[in-house]
This record gives sequence, structure tokens and C-alpha cells, in this order.
Amino acid sequence: MHPAVNLLDSRTDMGDLGWIAYPKNGWEEIGEVDENFAPIHTYQVCNVMEQNQNNWLLTSWISNEGASRIFIELKFTLRDCNSLPGGLGTCKETFNMYYFESDNEDGRNIRENQYIKIDTIAADESFTELDLGDRVMKLNTEVRDVGPLTKKGFYLAFQDVGACIALVSVRVYYKKCPSVIRNLALFPDTITGADSSQLLEVSGSCVNHSVTDEPPKMHCSAEGEWLVPIGKCMCKAGYEEKNNTCQVCRPGFFKASPHSPSCSKCPPHSYTLEEASTSCLCEEHYFRRESDPPTMACTTPSPISSVKKSKITKNSISLSWQEPDRPNGIILEYEIKYFEKDQETSYTIIKSKETTVTADGLKPGSAYIFQIRARTAAGYGGFSRRFEIETIPVSVAASSDQSQIPIITLSLTVGVILLAVVVIGFLLSGRRCGYSKAKQDPEEEKMHFHNGHIKLPGVKTYIDPHTYEDPNQAVHEFAKEIEASCITIERVIGAGEFGEVCSGRLKLQGKREFPVAIKTLKVGYTEKQRRDFLGEASIMGQFDHPNIIHLEGVVTKSKPVMIVTEYMENGSLDTFLKKNDGQFTVIQLAEMLRGIASGMKYLSDMGYVHRDLAARNILINSNLVCKVSDFGLSRVLEDDPEAAYTTRGGKIPIRWTAPEAIAFGKFTSASDVWSYGIVMWEVMSYGERPYWEMTNQDVIKAVEEGYRLPSPMDCPVALYQLMLDCWQKDRNSRPKFDEIVSMLDKLIRNPSSLKTLVNASNSVSNLLVEHSPVGSSAYRSVGEWLEAIKMGRYTEIFMKNGYSSMDAVAQVTLEDESPCEKWSLTLHPLFPTGYQT
Ligand code: AMP
Repeated sequence: MHPAVNLLDSRTDMGDLGWIAYPKNGWEEIGEVDENFAPIHTYQVCNVMEQNQNNWLLTSWISNEGASRIFIELKFTLRDCNSLPGGLGTCKETFNMYYFESDNEDGRNIRENQYIKIDTIAADESFTELDLGDRVMKLNTEVRDVGPLTKKGFYLAFQDVGACIALVSVRVYYKKCPSVIRNLALFPDTITGADSSQLLEVSGSCVNHSVTDEPPKMHCSAEGEWLVPIGKCMCKAGYEEKNNTCQVCRPGFFKASPHSPSCSKCPPHSYTLEEASTSCLCEEHYFRRESDPPTMACTTPSPISSVKKSKITKNSISLSWQEPDRPNGIILEYEIKYFEKDQETSYTIIKSKETTVTADGLKPGSAYIFQIRARTAAGYGGFSRRFEIETIPVSVAASSDQSQIPIITLSLTVGVILLAVVVIGFLLSGRRCGYSKAKQDPEEEKMHFHNGHIKLPGVKTYIDPHTYEDPNQAVHEFAKEIEASCITIERVIGAGEFGEVCSGRLKLQGKREFPVAIKTLKVGYTEKQRRDFLGEASIMGQFDHPNIIHLEGVVTKSKPVMIVTEYMENGSLDTFLKKNDGQFTVIQLAEMLRGIASGMKYLSDMGYVHRDLAARNILINSNLVCKVSDFGLSRVLEDDPEAAYTTRGGKIPIRWTAPEAIAFGKFTSASDVWSYGIVMWEVMSYGERPYWEMTNQDVIKAVEEGYRLPSPMDCPVALYQLMLDCWQKDRNSRPKFDEIVSMLDKLIRNPSSLKTLVNASNSVSNLLVEHSPVGSSAYRSVGEWLEAIKMGRYTEIFMKNGYSSMDAVAQVTLEDESPCEKWSLTLHPLFPTGYQT
């Protein structure tokens, strides 16, 4: 950009310049054209032959526009006096230029002596006749500057004293340093200083999205040049410099600091979805410590790789490890996850601030898997690889006091070194869980998980007594030994698989006598029978819940061997309900169900899967409190008259068991939930037999095809819906016991919610509508229809009851109560799963 700003240019000004010339015979304006034949204002004077010339040409007022130094460029021709015949005495070859400052235009009447002389202007070139003959104009250019100016404007004056001059153009201008962006700072247009050698210091302002590093400055020279830049601006974080501007960093790029030169791609394992990012976020499971620069890749902490076994006993494993090399920040704590090998669904988490941990309450001679990870402010790192360590078997522990095992360093390279120990053979998979005794380091926090559910601290984990080689040891770990003399047997109340069940009284020292139930082991038992019999006590003794039958103790040191439990006056729930058909309010029944659900929640929290939950295995006391009982081991199903052998060889109570447990032996708390749904049905129908007289095979088939038990008579819709939920084919869709408890709590607290009942006739008609288009032309006879719904064998019952035609079946209405009732008890219709109340 040209640094000059014109204040006047006689060449480009096409109108009247308004200049004044005097005396009259002095300067005169002539019409001229320039070399391009453009019209120009030319003033000339040529009074060379006359004496005492004093001809003035005054410009009009020129504003200086704030400039304090202006430049005047004159273009003129001047005749060589030598070329003029006879004029030598008076002819001049110079003229004078003056200025007069004024703030306004009213300074026209100034006297000549008030003008200040700028200079005497002489020609570099003059011209002769010959030149004129060639029609070539020899133009002289002279530039003078004036300053400092102190007023707003000025007049110029040209004085001729007897020369032959043609003033072809007058240009008045000032110089400026033009606006410029240098080092991301904007320097504005700056008029040069008044002094020709002066440098004006100018401050720059940072462009958009930039910040000052050192304040930017430059110097404007009198010539209009920017000199000596000092300081600079920098694009702020998230922006980079491009073409003297700050451009935003695109998503996927970042600039952390103004000092970084440009946006950089996010480092490995990090990302940003935003523009103008100053850092990138770590991908899930990747971390960066706070002190790490944002240019650093996100990593998973160097995993903990060196773990040492420091002490192993039959029930505990102590480990120590080294802090990882690059932990991505200060390690706040370690998380140690462990579980019994192949039992990953039931695991324990210990949080420790130390690099050591002791997992106790373990089973003897069992392999445990340990994984450790560190937590920093950035979150958790990845788990270490799995370390497999075995506890000492009971037999080894007993034979030698081998509480200290030599320290063996486990490392990635060395691999797993298994202790050469005798492994106790225990096979009941799905029942093995860790058991933690609560003696813990205060720096540690221990949590148990089962099937992804957190087990609250303080809730113990069930331990399978089978893992004890010596059943006596297990039973004494979990059950108190009672002196036979403390027990008074009163009467026989039932028959168990191993012997009579009696009622009686227990008088413990310092306590008053109270009623108990006493299970006895019949004489002539085998060792296995004794083990299995006491196995129930070993299980029951681990539980402590108001809805779980409470174990008082065992008698093993004298015969008969006995298991003593709290006494449940009303015996087993199924018998009790059958005896008291229709005697309870819906709330009372719901409360019984709530108690059972609560006991089951406790069991599932402990990682215990019951496998044989049924009303016959619930005991009820005089306060109508229901308690879960019958905690057998393998014998639980042997002992249950309902249990049938499956094709897989196991004995399963088919009607109470979830399809996946029947088909694949997949017994879980979710399969217990299915059984609970059947118990609900039993309770709400006062001990009715689920699926009535249908054969086990038919039950399996019908359930597999999506049929479900219909609602019991007068059952609240909410409770039947809960049953249907428990019977979801997908076990993960079934409610959990804690959800069942809260649902029942809610219903009990709000009895009106139990008022809407499923009407039995309604449910039967629904079944017909849903799966068998009764009344439509699809079935010609009742027999055909029953065949279609796989109930052909009930045709005879239908006929006997007067339902011989499809019309008669279709006429079952809400008013038609009795046949429906009969139906629901004799026909055993099943409900399709799609049924919605
Ligand atoms: P079980 O061998 O546990 O199935 O017990 C057989 C029968 O004895 C049960 O069906 C009950 O009728 C009765 N029974 C068992 N335990 C108790 C108890 N704690 N209180 C009252 N009756 C019990």
C-alpha cells in the first residue's frame, strides 16, 4: 500500500481549483493536456522582459487531515533564460514557494510578508526553443516538505519574480504507516511523525482469539515504513495461526497452550468432538495422569504385574505387589477382585490403600483367581492379569503346621506356579462361593458380588460344606454342639428322609426353656447319610434371618444325632393353607409371600441357590411368619417326593423348576425366582397343586410352549402379574428377590392396590381368546380344539361337564361362574405368556 495520502492533486482535480493569482498580468491558468492528453490545471507566467515582477499564485485552503508533516511535489517546466532573446537582464530561472497555516479558510487576506517561505525552487531541467520545436516537455519534479504543522490547514503560495514558468501540477500529501497485522497484532494506520527522522512507537492490538505474549509494538518512520517490531500475540489455546489470523482447531485436534505453534491431532487413545479443544479426552478405560502433558497418549496404567504370595493358609491367601511404574497419578487405592476358580459370578472386592491384602474366609484346598487394579484421580486402571492361587487343603494343614508357604514370585514371564498340594475333590458347581470372615484391616473395604449384584458389606457369603473334607469340621464351624441332656423330646410331628422330626423343648444354660423342632438321624445310618444329614445344619447355621429357619444347634457327640431348630407351630405352609382354605385376607397372604421373598433375598445375597423352593419347604409359625427351610445338599432333591429324574439324570421338582434349570441344569437365584412364582401361586390358591394332575412331561412341554398357570381364584391382578413376571422365559427378565420384596411391600402398604382381582372366568375366556379361536370356524369340535391346545385327554371331562360343543365353550361368560370354577380346578388350563391382566 502506498504510504502517501494526497491532500491536493491539481492533476486529478477536474473542477475549479479556486486558486487566486495577482496581479492580473501575472500567473494565468491555461487549458493544457498532459502526455496522455488528459486535461490539466497548468498555471503559467512568463514576464521575463519586464522589471520587478512579483506575481503570486495562492492555492485554496488545504486541510492537513491531522498530519503534522506534509510534502509538496511540484511538476513544472522552466524556460532557459539563455534561450530568450534580449531578456537576459530581467529573466529569472527560479520561483519561490510559501505556506501560511490557519485553522480555517478565512485566511485569504493575509499579507505577503505573513507567508513563510518553504524554498526557492529551481529547475533541474530547463527547455529551449529546440525542445519546444520537438514538442517534448521537459518536466521538472521537486518535492519539499513542511513541518511540524500546528494548525488544521494551510495555504500554499508560489511567487514568480520574472521567470518563464509553467506549473503543471501541484500535489500535496502526507505519509502514513499503513494498517498492518504483524505477529498477530493489528497496527492501525499511523500518520508519520512531524520530524523527518522521528520514529513513532505504535502499540498493536491482538487479533481475534489471540492473546498477548509480550505487548506488541512497532515503529512508524517518517517515510511511512513500519520498523523494529517488538513483542507479539499468540493464538490462544484451541486456536492456531493461519494467514495472520487465529483459526479454530477442528474436532479431533487440540492446542493446549498459546505457546504451542499449531493444533495437533489428539494423541493415541484420546478424542475430542468439539472445536477449539484445548485437550483431548481419554477413551474409556484409558487414563492420563494430571501431571502428564495433554500431548501425551492416554494409556491404561502399567498393569500390576509382579504379585507375591506372602502367606497361604487353608482359609486365607495374603498377597503383596509393587506399585506400577507409571501409575498415571497418585494411587488412591487398589482394588483386589477375587473369586473361586470357575465361580466368577460370585466374587469379592477388597479395596486397600496398601500394596498388600489378605483374603480370608476361603475354602481349604481351593483355587482362587486374583486380579488387582489401581485407582488414581483419573479413575481405575485395567485389571492385572489373573493370578491363580490355591489355599492349603485341610489334610495338609492338619498334618503339618504349614501356615507359612515360601514366597513365590508370580510374574508374567514365570507364569502361574501352582502349589503342589492335594486338591479336595468337590464337585457341586454353582454352589461354591467364597466366605469371608469379617476380620479386616481398617484400611480395607470388602464387598461381595454375586451374579453382578453387590452384596452389602457384612452379608456373608455362603460356603458349601462339601468343601470340607471332614463334615464334622464344617458342622462345628457353623453349628453349636448341644448337650443331649438339654433337649426334651415331646412328640413326633413329621417324617424326614433321615428319621423322625419331633417337637420338644430346649433348655440352654442361663436361658429359659423354649420349644424346638428336633430332626433325628435314624439308627444304622451310613457315613454318607450322616454327612448329608449334618450338611443341612452346616448350611442352615450360616444363615441368620427372620425368614430363614433358625438353627439352634446339633447333637453329634451322642446318639441319636440331632439337628435342633426353632419350632414352627403351623408346620409346612402347603399343608397349613390346605387346612385353612379361604381363611386369610389377601393382605395376610401377601404378608406370607413377602416374608418368603425376604428370606429368599437374603439367601440370594449370600450366593445360596435353594433349588427346591416350594410351599412344602416353607414353615409357618403361630404368628403366620413364613420361613424358608429344607437346605439339603445333593439329597435335597432325593428327599423331595416331588423331585423327578430328568433326562440329564438329576432329580428335579419339575413343577417348581424354571425351564432352563430343567433343560440345562442352570440353577441360579433367577431359577429360584421362578420357583417363588409357583409358591405365590400355591399360596394364593391355598395349597393347590401347580398344574394339577398334568404329568411332568406335559408340564415341561406346555411351559416350553409358552403356557403359564392361570391366575388362582380371586387373586389380585398385581400378584398374578408378579407371578407371570417370575415365569418369564428369559431368566434375566425375571424380577430379583429384592425387587419382589419392595413390590410386595408397596402392595401391602397400599391395600387398595390389591382390590382388583383377576376373575377366574375372565382368565379362562382370555386363554380361549388368546390361543384358541373359540366360536370361530377354526375348530369344529371341542375335541379338536382341546387337541390343538394339547389337552386332548381332557375331552371326556369337558363332555361330562356339559361342554360338548364349541358354542357351549364359547358361552362361558363373566356371569357363568361355576363352570369356570370347575374348569379351573378340573381342566387345568394354562395361561399363555402373552397374557396381560
Ligand atoms: P423336613 O425333613 O425338613 O422336610 O421336615 C419334615 C416335616 O417336619 C415338615 O414338613 C414339617 O411338617 C415338620 N417340620 C420340620 N421342621 C419343623 C420345624 N422347625 N417346626 C415345625 N415343624 C417342622
